[in-house]
Amino acid sequence: MKSESSSTKGNIYQQHFQTYSISKYRRGLPHAHTVFQLLGVPDHKDKPNLANWIDKYITAEYPSALSDSVDPVQINRHNLYVHHVSTSMTHKCYCVTQDGKCKRGYDSLVCVPTTSFDEKGFPIYRRRKQEDLRIVPNVREIVIDWDGKNFYSK
Ligand SMILES: [Zn+2]
Repeated sequence: MKSESSSTKGNIYQQHFQTYSISKYRRGLPHAHTVFQLLGVPDHKDKPNLANWIDKYITAEYPSALSDSVDPVQINRHNLYVHHVSTSMTHKCYCVTQDGKCKRGYDSLVCVPTTSFDEKGFPIYRRRKQEDLRIVPNVREIVIDWDGKNFYSK
């Protein structure tokens, strides 16, 4: 597993620290639970700036169409990202309660116009369209950089 993701100075990958564990279950692919603190993130008490930062780098929305005026490399990256969001970053319920509800909250039918935070400080990600409601929050550049794969498949 990469401990850092193609770092270059000044991008969002500059980390203060990182820790992770690898999980393997019978269902689904092996995956990593990763915690890392990035440099340059607004203070957690500054909710408006933190929400803006989240919206800049993290998304829980289905990718929108590209404009016609982008170059082929960007089109390929976009198509790759759309593929990975459709196949790997869309929640499929493996975690339903006895009353049929999703334990992860992906059964909500309510769009979220702006990113905010719950009472514990966890983000409530912006999801402006119905097609966004099952999208797992992700960082576009990391999904593309890892090619939507886990490290075992490389
Ligand atoms: Zn679910």
